[in-house]
Amino acid sequence: MDLRVESDNSCESCLSVNNIDQKSNSSFLQKRNVSTGRFHDEMNNPEGRVLVLYTGGTIGMVRNKTGALVPIANAFVNNVRTFPNMHDNAYAEERFCPSCDNCPLVLPLSNEHKRRVIYDVKEYSPLRDSSNMTMDDWILIAKDIKEAYQYYDGFVVLHGTDTMSYTASALSFMLEALGKIVVITGSQLPIFDTRSDGLDNFLASLVIAANYNIPEVCVFFGNKLIRGNRTSKFSTDAFDAFHSPNSPPLAIAGIKIEVDYSSIYRSGALEEFHVHTTLNRNVGLLRLFPSISGELIKAFLRPPTEGVVLQSYGAGNIPSNREDIVSAIKAATDRGVIVVNITQCPTGSISCIYEAGQVLTDAGVIAGYDMTPEAALTKLSYVLSKKEWDTEKKREMMQTNLRGELTGGKPPSMKDWDLIDAVAQSLNVSSPSERYELVSILFPAMLNAAVIARDIKKLESFQEYGADISQKDADGRTALHIACCEGDLSVVRRLLIMGANVHAKDRFNRTPLIDAIEYDHQEIIKLLRQTGAHLHERTRMLGEKLCMASAAGNLMRLKSYQLAGADLTVADISGRTPLHLAALHNQPKCVEFLLENGADKNAKDMLGNTPFALAELTKAFDSLKLISKKER
Ligand code: ASP
Repeated sequence: MDLRVESDNSCESCLSVNNIDQKSNSSFLQKRNVSTGRFHDEMNNPEGRVLVLYTGGTIGMVRNKTGALVPIANAFVNNVRTFPNMHDNAYAEERFCPSCDNCPLVLPLSNEHKRRVIYDVKEYSPLRDSSNMTMDDWILIAKDIKEAYQYYDGFVVLHGTDTMSYTASALSFMLEALGKIVVITGSQLPIFDTRSDGLDNFLASLVIAANYNIPEVCVFFGNKLIRGNRTSKFSTDAFDAFHSPNSPPLAIAGIKIEVDYSSIYRSGALEEFHVHTTLNRNVGLLRLFPSISGELIKAFLRPPTEGVVLQSYGAGNIPSNREDIVSAIKAATDRGVIVVNITQCPTGSISCIYEAGQVLTDAGVIAGYDMTPEAALTKLSYVLSKKEWDTEKKREMMQTNLRGELTGGKPPSMKDWDLIDAVAQSLNVSSPSERYELVSILFPAMLNAAVIARDIKKLESFQEYGADISQKDADGRTALHIACCEGDLSVVRRLLIMGANVHAKDRFNRTPLIDAIEYDHQEIIKLLRQTGAHLHERTRMLGEKLCMASAAGNLMRLKSYQLAGADLTVADISGRTPLHLAALHNQPKCVEFLLENGADKNAKDMLGNTPFALAELTKAFDSLKLISKKER
């Protein structure tokens, strides 16, 4: 089925997704795929692409005549276009088109990041107050991210603050083997108010989503990037409204954006990104209070309930003298209900040091350690919906750290950071910023050296010493980039298992996949694809490279591109396809391969020439023969 739709009121090169109704997803993403804008030198002007899903909330609201805050359809994008700090109209006109009012939005260049941030906004209809959001909305957001995944470097979800932590937690579980960043943000005051936290939150989220390979669902609020499933809304009125009491921020946005790479959770799953879209709705949160009645607890645990997060006192205690509570819980767990114990305290974890806590363990309750209520509830809903797991497995997974949501009793290794500390001491480095610089110089250099030496043991021990396996060197290259050039499959596999990110882009916009293609390491290309890597180049740039390979008769390169998922029919800037070039330069092996792989022998370049016509002009007889044979 051809999902392409004709341009509406947007020009062909823009094909913006703004304000397109959620039902028309497939069409808009096909449009994005053919969108290239004007010819653009991607090497010297790297761009980061971000999709903004605007679901609602205060951030996008405007004030009506009486001063009340209301969401107004389409107002967000139209307003953003008029704010020079959110949209660089001059660049957009030059890059896209002067006349169209629907072209992508462009952030002004920041001093710190040399990558242009190009973003599209998809507005939900109707706009939601987050208090009205349901599990269906989480599923919708997850599906939208899935559908747009390969066209963007990162995602920003604009969301009301009230239930933001629930959405962030749920998405962190539903987005499986996530390799790109999803930043959820909102604000306490509307972004278009004169004084607002919305502007900082939005701009920083865009910059982070375009520039940092943090494969997590995060919340950005009050200058902090926090793991989404560790957050809770903490204040109704402070700009610093979200806290993650049991986990340090992943990044702090001060004058510079300082990422704490040692805190990033990397799964290491050798799987392609996918979305789990079923959730179990028979779950609940039960907060104990003195004198709670046994009847209330029984009613809560009655079918159809399948899972309950119990918020107990302190380190996991319930009144041990309340036989009615204990027996109601035991009866439920015997029936297969999963009851997860978390604490009512904002910081700290469950531990069974008191008799009052031990009775819960004896009643079949499992520990939720230091999970937030939001994370525990959404995780329970996710885990219970996994058809392939039996109850024992589900109980085990609830106690396992799946996305960095819990600290499962295991104390952090004493080795962490010792190495850097030793070097820091010997260099008399003491301030946090100098230490940060040291980490960002030392670890990438050491990791890269270990890759070149093919020393897997060393790579593993650097990770134990706190190195982030995807940390970039001065050129933005990661250990995986180097390994994909070097070509040792076992090193690449180990790096991926250690959590190396397949989407990392270096200063020249190259991903590890591009490196593997340009060295024709085809087994590595296959492994990267299996792990979710994809080509990200704009269609025309890809066309240029394929045409060059064809003209040179580089069949191996064409095969490498094909393994990487490239469409071998894309054209260069003059409308010539790889088949045109192979025919023109009489490269029969390439002609044959391209014809076998869907090349269009009737494609016409800018001057109206077909591959056959070009081969005739240059008397490329071998190619002519092949093209006319296939024609018959
Ligand atoms: N009630 C609003 C919401 O959660 C509050 C906000 O956006 O901050 O959608």
